[in-house]
Amino acid sequence: MTSLLQTEKRHLWHPFTPMQAWCEEGHEPLMLVSGHGCYLKDQHGREYLDGNSSIWTNIHGHGHPTINAAIRAQLDQVAHTSFLGFTHEPAIQLGKQLVDLLPGSDLSRVFYSDNGSTAIECAIRMALQYWKQNGHPSRDTILAFDRAYHGDTLGAASVGGIPIFKGSGNDFGYRVQRVPTLEALDDLTRDEIKRLSAVIIEPLIQGSAGMRLWPKGMLKALSDWCRQHDIFLILDEVMTGFGRTGKMFACQHEDVIPDFLCLAKGLTGGYLPLAATLTTERVFEGFLGPGRAFYYGHSYTANQLGCAAALGSLQVFREERVLEHLPEKVAHFTHLLTTLRDLPSVMDIRQCGMIAGIEIGPYAPERLMGVKTCLAARQHGLLTRPVVDTLVLMPPLAATHVELTTMVQALRMAISEVAAPTSS
Ligand SMILES: *Cc1c(COP(=O)(O)O)cnc(C)c1O
Repeated sequence: MTSLLQTEKRHLWHPFTPMQAWCEEGHEPLMLVSGHGCYLKDQHGREYLDGNSSIWTNIHGHGHPTINAAIRAQLDQVAHTSFLGFTHEPAIQLGKQLVDLLPGSDLSRVFYSDNGSTAIECAIRMALQYWKQNGHPSRDTILAFDRAYHGDTLGAASVGGIPIFKGSGNDFGYRVQRVPTLEALDDLTRDEIKRLSAVIIEPLIQGSAGMRLWPKGMLKALSDWCRQHDIFLILDEVMTGFGRTGKMFACQHEDVIPDFLCLAKGLTGGYLPLAATLTTERVFEGFLGPGRAFYYGHSYTANQLGCAAALGSLQVFREERVLEHLPEKVAHFTHLLTTLRDLPSVMDIRQCGMIAGIEIGPYAPERLMGVKTCLAARQHGLLTRPVVDTLVLMPPLAATHVELTTMVQALRMAISEVAAPTSS
């Protein structure tokens, strides 16, 4: 074990991780070896509740027999073949089931890719290419919101509004105009509006901004504004999709159907990397004709194992009536979160279905109080990660009432220990 961790520190490099501290002698990285339901086990056999669904991906718990069986069955057929010039049944079945999740909507076409960032890239590129080849080449701008997060690849990062995620990339051959709020759209000039190809937004809640909620009705009003000006609406449901907000998709809370719906994280139940960008027949038809194609794709596009896992996850949604059981679970979660309000260092609690952000402070960000609190929670058997000083609780939808209670209790103890009242 020790030599394994030595090898890890010698050769690996982790995302968003200050590697100097990681590699220090005294730091023993947590190595996760197995998972069952909402529990994960480490190298020492200690168990933890998966309080952030393994970075917002897991839906039905780990090692779910239905999803495992679906992956195994596909593995006995073939693990992967190209989607370039070929097709296969899991992708076809999944495409149909995804489209059927939004009955009566215009979203009838499914384009597969590998992760949330690529699902966003597809939508942006489709929107830009659509207008370019259909008589509106001047529509070269994507409107995005302050503090938005849409992923880390260069194109996805360029529409993001959080500087730390942007690295050096910003100019990607298209313009990005950023606004803080819905109301700011009123200040756009006619010329600015005419240049807009699409508006992109995380519906209902901005995740990486610290679980920041949009006002009720904002999404509907934005959608109406887009329709009025015939500008595409791209919804980034990478985090909110697949029941996380209490409904299958966040857009269903406000009866909004976008022109592009980007899905990833929870698509496979959190088992394998796969993404889908859903769009309309109108957009699809804009790519028909001689020499026209959507010039985009990846080696692992529509990977069979991923599609099989996604089909397994949707089967669990149906068989276990996951959405029907959610309101009761969400209500229990709400009640539990309320009990944290009496802690003096809890400044705000924001919740959207099974997503919660508990903001502690006020602290100077460099004190890393969020990180410290989450490390303390580990000692109480809870794994999660903060966004600065917002502690994130995003349990798998499969979490039982008892598991939810245990998670919130663990977090409560951690906050009380670490987050001494507001004297910063
Ligand atoms: C995680 C996330 C992404 C990026 O997805 P990756 O699979 O990490 O590339 C994009 N948008 C939102 C809202 C996300 O939460």
